[in-house]
Amino acid sequence: MDLLRAKELCLELMTKHGLTSENGWSFEWIKSKNSAGKCRTFNSVKIVGFTTTGRKIKTSTNSTNGGIIMLSSFITSIHNEDEVKDTILHEIAHGLTPGHNHDSVWRRKALEIGCNGERCFAITEEIEEKKSNIVGICPKCNKKHYMVRMPKTNRWCMCTNRTFIAEEKIQWTTKSNLVVDKTTNITRRRLH
Ligand SMILES: [Zn+2]
Ligand SMILES: [Zn+2]
Repeated sequence: MDLLRAKELCLELMTKHGLTSENGWSFEWIKSKNSAGKCRTFNSVKIVGFTTTGRKIKTSTNSTNGGIIMLSSFITSIHNEDEVKDTILHEIAHGLTPGHNHDSVWRRKALEIGCNGERCFAITEEIEEKKSNIVGICPKCNKKHYMVRMPKTNRWCMCTNRTFIAEEKIQWTTKSNLVVDKTTNITRRRLH
């Protein structure tokens, strides 16, 4: 999507949902290749007491003093308007439910304002492939993992649930070594 248009759309939607400059909100571009958008809220912090050494005990309240909605220029330029809009609404929902991360309160708000309510921006294979040089296959579930550089330590896929069995280590290879089996659409490593 055109970046100028995307910024316009974002400001439009922020205003619609009350995240205005009068309320301390602003828009920013970021260069992230991993997340399509981010939301930072400036939490109001209340001092609720002191420790014996005199340190302040703070609690962050659920109200905010505004914040920033950020969009990745890299991912916005690849995404279409619907995807950008969904990212914006995802971040606005964070702005409206500070401290709730991706819990049910956030999700309800996200759905209410018209976002698909998915937990996070799912990186499409297209974007992953563009920015990565190294692809890893999970021997257990076949999921592809992408890295820019070859990882120096062993890694396991989420599906292994931290069992760390040697046979289930992600198998890394450079992209040029991959062969894609078109019939099953499963990517396998070329043996040599
Ligand atoms: Zn989120
Ligand atoms: Zn897996």
